Amino acid sequence: SEGTKKDRPIAMRMKDICFRYEKDLPDVLESVALTVYEGEIISLLGGNGAGKTTLLNVVSGANKPYRGKLEIFGKRIQKYSGKELYAGKLASLPQNPQTVFIKMTVREDYQEIQKVMGYSQEEMEQKISEIADLLGISHLLSRHPYDLSGGEQQKAALGKVLLLQPRLLLLDEPTKGIDAWSKHQLQLLLKDLKRQGIAILMVTHDVEFAAGVSDRCGLFFDHEITSLDTPEEFFCNNNYYTTAANRISRQRYENAVTCEEV
Ligand code: ADP
Repeated sequence: SEGTKKDRPIAMRMKDICFRYEKDLPDVLESVALTVYEGEIISLLGGNGAGKTTLLNVVSGANKPYRGKLEIFGKRIQKYSGKELYAGKLASLPQNPQTVFIKMTVREDYQEIQKVMGYSQEEMEQKISEIADLLGISHLLSRHPYDLSGGEQQKAALGKVLLLQPRLLLLDEPTKGIDAWSKHQLQLLLKDLKRQGIAILMVTHDVEFAAGVSDRCGLFFDHEITSLDTPEEFFCNNNYYTTAANRISRQRYENAVTCEEV
């Protein structure tokens, strides 16, 4: 058995995380708490603009400064300073996969990883063909990243992220634009990473995908994570939809009451 959660090593833990984009804007994240264990896949679902991407970008270091406590593999992250956190530890597939590419071909972009990870030329070529094979994109390596279709670009970007061999993997809508077969392959791939002890935190609108691959699913609503539970519980009796809907109508009701009082 996996043992109790308490015994399991923690990949990422956050507590009381608050974040706003500008000092005059309201908080997008309000006191968010979340623990992701090693070898665990967590999916965050929820409406557009709820703050899911904002949260991932706090973990990846793109959104700063934040308030609250963030620990990655036991290391308190107060400010992201160097690249030491990234190599072999954390990698992030951003919402827009294009931002992953800076070179003229996918292969050249992949080769950029060599310096970061300290691979030899030979190792690098080996890893590139392995990952390309795994993702079914070997035929795309010499193409310009911007000439790829949306789904191809998504897979190519994922390849670059995986070359960083992260122990904590952040994925922002990983199934966006990819076909059913590729989605199935991605599900197998994520489960394999999980078996290797890699922690995966993902944001998705893909209910079927989340239900099939996640250990726990959470609803992002009202600036925080609610109803974090196993997919069976989370999606049971359409609980996911009704909970979200109930909460939204309650909020509207409360807003309406407040307005009448004014
Ligand atoms: P989700 O991923 O759940 O769809 P986001 O995290 O992208 O939501 O956005 C949460 C809120 O933060 C939205 O209201 C959005 O408009 C706002 N937001 C996102 N990025 C920025 C930014 N760079 N500057 C200001 N506001 C932003």
